[in-house]
Amino acid sequence: MTTSTDITLTTAIEDIPNAGIGPVRAAAFRRLGIRCAADLLLHLPSRYEIRHGRQTIADASNLVGQAHGAQANLTVEGEIAVVRPHHGRRPRMEATLMDETGTVLLTWFNAPWMKDKLHPGMRIRATGKAKRHGDYLQITNAQWVDITSADNDTSSSDHAGLQPLYPAGDKLTSRDVDRAVSAVLDDVLAQLDDHLPAEYRNERALPELRDAYRMVHRPADEDAFAAGRRRLAFDELLLLQLAVMIKRRHRCSELVAPQLKHDTTIEKRIRARFPFKLTRGQKAVVADIIEDLTTTVPMNRLLQGDVGSGKTAVAVYAMLMAVAQDQQAGLMAPTELLAEQHFTTVTEMLADSQVRIELLTGSLKASQRRRIHKSLESGDIDIVIGTHALLTESVSFKSLAVAVIDEQHRFGVHQRAAVRTRSGDESIVPHTLVMTATPIPRTLSLSIFGDLDISTIRGMPPGRQPVITKLVSSQQAAQVYEFVRQRLNVGEQAYIVVPAVESSKAGLKSVEDHVAELRNGPLGNMTVEAVHGRLDRESRDDIMTRFRAGDIDALVATTVIEVGVDVSNACIMVIEQADRFGLAQLHQLRGRVGRGANQSLCTLIADPTTDDARARLQTIVETDDGFKIAEKDLELRGPGELFGARQSGIAPFRVAKLPDDLELLQMARRDAQQWIEQSPHLAESQEVLLRKRLLKAHGKAFGLGDVA
Ligand code: ADP
Ligand code: MG
Repeated sequence: MTTSTDITLTTAIEDIPNAGIGPVRAAAFRRLGIRCAADLLLHLPSRYEIRHGRQTIADASNLVGQAHGAQANLTVEGEIAVVRPHHGRRPRMEATLMDETGTVLLTWFNAPWMKDKLHPGMRIRATGKAKRHGDYLQITNAQWVDITSADNDTSSSDHAGLQPLYPAGDKLTSRDVDRAVSAVLDDVLAQLDDHLPAEYRNERALPELRDAYRMVHRPADEDAFAAGRRRLAFDELLLLQLAVMIKRRHRCSELVAPQLKHDTTIEKRIRARFPFKLTRGQKAVVADIIEDLTTTVPMNRLLQGDVGSGKTAVAVYAMLMAVAQDQQAGLMAPTELLAEQHFTTVTEMLADSQVRIELLTGSLKASQRRRIHKSLESGDIDIVIGTHALLTESVSFKSLAVAVIDEQHRFGVHQRAAVRTRSGDESIVPHTLVMTATPIPRTLSLSIFGDLDISTIRGMPPGRQPVITKLVSSQQAAQVYEFVRQRLNVGEQAYIVVPAVESSKAGLKSVEDHVAELRNGPLGNMTVEAVHGRLDRESRDDIMTRFRAGDIDALVATTVIEVGVDVSNACIMVIEQADRFGLAQLHQLRGRVGRGANQSLCTLIADPTTDDARARLQTIVETDDGFKIAEKDLELRGPGELFGARQSGIAPFRVAKLPDDLELLQMARRDAQQWIEQSPHLAESQEVLLRKRLLKAHGKAFGLGDVA
C-alpha cells in the first residue's frame, strides 16, 4: 500500500495538505496550542450536535415530531419558494424551502444582508435547529450552501451521527478545525501504536488508542464518544501517576536520609524550648513527622494548617530533632521579611543554647554569604534560615537532615526537588517538610502532589478570638481611621495594607502616598511607618523590630506582610482597595491579626465593580475557615492558578477533568502503583512505547531522566 501523503504525528500544522491552512490560520492554530498533527488529535470537540443526515422535509418533520419537544439538528435540501423580510420588533428574514415532500420555514434573525443572497428558484441545502410550530416545521438561523449548480456541493455534512464542535478562536472556526482533523486522521491513526497491552486494556474496557481517537473525533453515537474520551483521559492520568509512583519508589527505595533518634529525653529538651504547650493538633502532626524522621526513607510531607495554626513550632520541632543528632536543618521562606522573622523567632527560642543559627538571603554581602557557605559546608552552622538564596546558590551542606519549606504555594512544586540535591552524595537527601496555609483539594493532592504525604493541623492555639471582619465603602474611610486612631491611643497596633508601593497612573493607592496622607491627617500624632519589598534589609529589619517592640503604632504595607508575619499585639487590620486582592491573599492578610488575646478587627475598604470582586469580599466577610475559602477560590479561579500548580511545569490536562474524573484518577493511581511495583523501571520490551511517552510527558517536570 502506498500512502498519498507523508503526514505523521509531528507534521507541522501549516504543512497539512488539503486543510485550507495558510499562515493566518496556522498562527490561529498555534495560539490554541496546536502546532502539529498530534496536537490536533488531542484537541477534542467541546460538544456535539446531533445530525440526522440529509432528509426529505416530510421525514424531517416526522423526526421532529418524535423528538419529545427537543430541538433536532436537521439537514434538508430544496428550492426556495418565497423570500420575505419582516421589519418591526424582531427584524428577520424568512424563506420557504420546498422539496417534493413538503415545505419548511427558514428564519434568520438580525441578518438583513441575507436579503440579497437568497432568491426564489435557487436550490440550497440548509442545516440547523428545527422546531415544529403547529403543523409547519421551522429552522432558525440555518447554515446553508447554494447547491443550484452541483459543483458547489462540497459539503460533507450529510452523514448522520454526531457533528463535533471544536473549541476554536479568532480567525478559526470549528469547521476549520474539523477540516484539519479530517485531513490528518486516517494517516496519523494508521501510524499510531498503543502503549498499553491489549490484555490490560481489555480488563478495563479501554478501547485501543487509535479507536479511541476516532471515537472522539468521529463518534458514531454518544456512547462511542464517552468510551473514547474515557480512554484518553485515563491515559493522561495514568502517565501522571506513573511519573509520581516512579518518583516515589525512587525516593523510598533508592534514596536515603539521615535517620534521626527520638526518645523522651529529646522530647523533653525540645518541648522546653517552646514558650507554650503544643496544641493537640500540633502534637498529632509532630507524631507523624517523628515517625518519618526516625527512618532512613526520606520524608516528603506536606503540612497544611490554616493561618495562625502554629506551623512554625512544628517546623522548629523537626529541625531540633536534626540538631539533637548533630545534623543540620534548613528553613526556606518565600520572602526576606518572613525569613528574617523566622530567624528572630528561632534565635529567641534558642537564646541560651549551643545551637548556631544563620540567616541567608539574597541581600547579604558577597563576603557574608561566602562565610555562611563555608560554615554550612564545614558543619559550623546547625540551622540556616533563608529565602530562595538557599536554593539558587551553590550551597552545600555537611549533612542536611531536615529541609523545611514554608508557604510552599509561593514556590511551586519544582523547587522542593532542588533543595534535596545539595548534599554531596546524590543518594543522600534530607527529609523534606513543606508547609502551606492553603489547603490542597483532594483531587490535586492525588494528582500533581501525589508523592506527598499530608498532615493537617486541626484547631488553633488557645485563647484566640475570631477576627471581626467588616466591609465598608471608601466614603466611610474617615470613620474607619477615626476608629483606628482610638484603638492606637489605647496601645494597640495596626496594619494598613494598600495595593502598590509607589504612586502610579493605575489608580492604586500606594504606600508612599498613604503614609503621607495618614501622617498629615487622621493618624497625625502617631508613629506611622512603611514597609514594602523595595526597602533594603536594614531599614526593613529596623522597622519590623520597632513594630514588634511596640514603638511603631501603624504599619502601612504592601502584601509583603501577607505571609507569616506574626506580631500578637497588632490586632487592627485595614485593607484599602480590598477588591484588588485575591481571596487567598485577603485570608492571609487577615491572618496577621487575631494572634493575641485582644479582640481583633479587619476592615476591608472597597468599592467593588465586578461580580467576582463582590463574591470574594463577601466570602471573606462571611467565613474565616481557610478550607472553605480555598474551595471558593478554586471555584472562582480554577485549579491552575493555585498551589503552585502553574509554576510546577506539569502540563495541564487536555482531556481529563478534575474533579469529574476522580474515579478514573483513583483507578490510574492504583494501577500505576502496582505497575511500578512489578516493573520499577518500565524496562520490559512491551513497555518501550509507554516509557517513551511517559518521559516525553513528564520526564522534565519530574526529573525522571536519572530515574526511569
Ligand atoms: P502559622 O501556622 O500561620 O505559620 P505561626 O506558626 O506563625 O502560625 O503561629 C501563630 C502564632 O501562634 C505565633 O505567635 C505562635 O507563637 C503562636 N502559637 C503557636 N503555637 C502555639 C501554642 N501551642 N500555644 C500558644 N500559642 C501558639
Ligand atoms: Mg507561618
